[in-house]
Amino acid sequence: MHKVEIKRIKLDSISSIWKDFISLIYPEFCLSCKNELLSAENMICTSCRADLPKTNHFDNQQNELWTKFRNRVDFEYAIAYLKFYKKGKVQPLLHSLKYHNNQEIGIHLGNMFGVELKQNGFSGKFDLLIPVPLHRTKLIKRGYNQTDLIAKGIAERVNVTVGNNIVIRTQATKTQTKVSKTERWENVADRFEVTKPEAITGKHVVLLDDIVTTGATFDALADAVLKHKPLKISMLALAEAQRH
Ligand SMILES: [Zn+2]
Repeated sequence: MHKVEIKRIKLDSISSIWKDFISLIYPEFCLSCKNELLSAENMICTSCRADLPKTNHFDNQQNELWTKFRNRVDFEYAIAYLKFYKKGKVQPLLHSLKYHNNQEIGIHLGNMFGVELKQNGFSGKFDLLIPVPLHRTKLIKRGYNQTDLIAKGIAERVNVTVGNNIVIRTQATKTQTKVSKTERWENVADRFEVTKPEAITGKHVVLLDDIVTTGATFDALADAVLKHKPLKISMLALAEAQRH
C-alpha cells in the first residue's frame, strides 16, 4: 500500500471519529420521526426512508393523477413521487423545507425523486423543467423558492434543463391551506405570465410543484404555458395530497 493511501485511510477514520464526536455534542435528528440519527444517516433515518409512502405509478401513464387532470389539461405524463398524508411521514419533510429554511432537504428530496425518474426511463424525456414560481413578495419573504431546490435535485439525477425564469407569478395568492376548495381555484386562476415564450415553443415542457392538491395551480400554469405552443406538456409533483 502506498503512503498516500495509508494517509487517506487515516484521515477518513479520523473524520468519521470526529463526526461521531460532533454528533455527541450536537446530535442530529431525523426530520420525519425526530429520532436521533446515526452518523451514517443523512436527514432522514433508515427506517423512515423505508417507510416513505410512494405512489409507485411511474410506469402507468394513465395513473390516477393523470386521470384527475384528463378533462382539464392534456398532460403527456402526470407523476407524483410521494403520498402526502396529514400528519404522515412526508408532512414534516415539506414543513422543514418550506418554513424552517431547510434548503438542503429540498435538493435531497429532488435527488431521490430524480433517481426514481431515471430508473423509470425519464432521463432525457423532458426538454424543459419549469418549477412553479412564487410571487416576488413571497420569494423575498422566504428567501428561496422551495420548488427551485427540488428542481435542482432532480436535474442532478436526470438529463433536463431547468428554467427558473421563464414564467412569473403575477399576483400573490393567499395561503392555500386557509381557504376553501372553491376559493383555491379563484386564487390561482390565470396568475402566471410567460416572460420567455421562445424557451417553450416546440419543447416537451414539464411543470413541477412541491405538492399537488386540487391541481388548480397546475391548471393555471399549464394554461399560461400552452399559449406558447410547447410540443408536449407534463407535470411532476414531489408529493400528492391524499384524501384519507
Ligand atoms: Zn425517522
